[in-house]
Amino acid sequence: MAATRNVRDYGYGEPDVRGAPRVKEILKDNPKCPNCGCATLALCEVDVVNPLLKGGHGTGLYMGCPACPWASPMMSTAAGPAKGDA
Ligand SMILES: [Zn+2]
Repeated sequence: MAATRNVRDYGYGEPDVRGAPRVKEILKDNPKCPNCGCATLALCEVDVVNPLLKGGHGTGLYMGCPACPWASPMMSTAAGPAKGDA
Protein backbone atom coordinates (compact mmCIF):
# COMPACT_ATOMS: atom_id res chain seq x y z
CA MET A 1 0.00 0.00 0.00
CA ALA A 2 1.32 3.41 -0.94
CA ALA A 3 2.29 5.49 2.04
CA THR A 4 1.99 8.78 0.23
CA ARG A 5 -0.95 10.47 -1.40
CA ASN A 6 -0.71 13.30 -3.86
CA VAL A 7 -2.72 16.21 -2.47
CA ARG A 8 -4.07 17.02 -5.93
CA ASP A 9 -5.27 13.54 -6.78
CA TYR A 10 -9.04 13.94 -6.89
CA GLY A 11 -10.22 11.08 -9.03
CA TYR A 12 -8.33 11.72 -12.23
CA GLY A 13 -5.24 10.02 -10.91
CA GLU A 14 -2.00 11.72 -10.17
CA PRO A 15 -1.89 14.79 -12.40
CA ASP A 16 0.99 14.94 -14.83
CA VAL A 17 1.60 18.67 -14.64
CA ARG A 18 3.54 20.38 -17.43
CA GLY A 19 5.26 23.68 -16.87
CA ALA A 20 4.63 26.15 -14.09
CA PRO A 21 1.17 27.11 -12.82
CA ARG A 22 -0.18 30.50 -13.86
CA VAL A 23 -2.23 32.83 -11.67
CA LYS A 24 -5.43 33.46 -13.60
CA GLU A 25 -7.17 35.73 -11.12
CA ILE A 26 -6.85 37.01 -7.57
CA LEU A 27 -10.05 36.07 -5.74
CA LYS A 28 -11.26 38.75 -3.37
CA ASP A 29 -14.85 37.77 -2.61
CA ASN A 30 -14.06 34.22 -1.64
CA PRO A 31 -14.03 32.26 1.57
CA LYS A 32 -10.80 32.51 3.50
CA CYS A 33 -8.11 29.88 3.16
CA PRO A 34 -9.36 26.87 5.16
CA ASN A 35 -5.82 26.13 6.31
CA CYS A 36 -4.34 29.44 7.47
CA GLY A 37 -7.20 31.97 7.24
CA CYS A 38 -5.56 34.16 4.59
CA ALA A 39 -8.29 36.36 3.10
CA THR A 40 -7.08 36.26 -0.49
CA LEU A 41 -6.85 33.16 -2.65
CA ALA A 42 -5.57 32.90 -6.19
CA LEU A 43 -7.25 31.06 -9.06
CA CYS A 44 -4.47 29.10 -10.73
CA GLU A 45 -4.26 27.09 -13.90
CA VAL A 46 -1.65 24.66 -15.12
CA ASP A 47 -1.28 22.48 -18.18
CA VAL A 48 -1.90 18.79 -17.50
CA VAL A 49 -1.39 15.62 -19.48
CA ASN A 50 -3.87 12.88 -18.64
CA PRO A 51 -5.11 10.00 -20.83
CA LEU A 52 -8.51 10.25 -19.08
CA LEU A 53 -9.08 13.63 -20.70
CA LYS A 54 -10.40 13.75 -24.24
CA GLY A 55 -7.43 14.48 -26.45
CA GLY A 56 -5.08 13.43 -23.67
CA HIS A 57 -4.30 16.86 -22.29
CA GLY A 58 -5.94 19.96 -20.92
CA THR A 59 -5.93 22.55 -18.21
CA GLY A 60 -6.16 22.04 -14.47
CA LEU A 61 -7.91 24.79 -12.52
CA TYR A 62 -7.64 25.17 -8.76
CA MET A 63 -7.50 27.69 -5.98
CA GLY A 64 -4.26 28.19 -4.17
CA CYS A 65 -3.28 30.13 -1.08
CA PRO A 66 -0.37 32.55 -1.49
CA ALA A 67 0.49 32.29 2.21
CA CYS A 68 0.59 28.54 2.81
CA PRO A 69 0.74 25.27 0.79
CA TRP A 70 -3.04 24.79 0.72
CA ALA A 71 -4.63 24.14 -2.68
CA SER A 72 -8.19 23.16 -3.60
CA PRO A 73 -9.10 20.08 -5.62
CA MET A 74 -8.11 20.50 -9.25
CA MET A 75 -10.75 20.60 -11.95
CA SER A 76 -9.31 19.24 -15.15
CA THR A 77 -10.75 20.40 -18.44
CA ALA A 78 -9.88 18.72 -21.71
CA ALA A 79 -8.26 20.96 -24.29
CA GLY A 80 -10.32 19.24 -26.97
CA PRO A 81 -9.98 16.32 -29.30
CA ALA A 82 -6.59 15.59 -30.75
CA LYS A 83 -6.16 16.08 -34.48
CA GLY A 84 -7.95 13.33 -36.34
CA ASP A 85 -10.06 12.44 -33.29
CA ALA A 86 -13.80 12.61 -33.86
ZN1 LIG B 1 -3.46 29.45 3.46
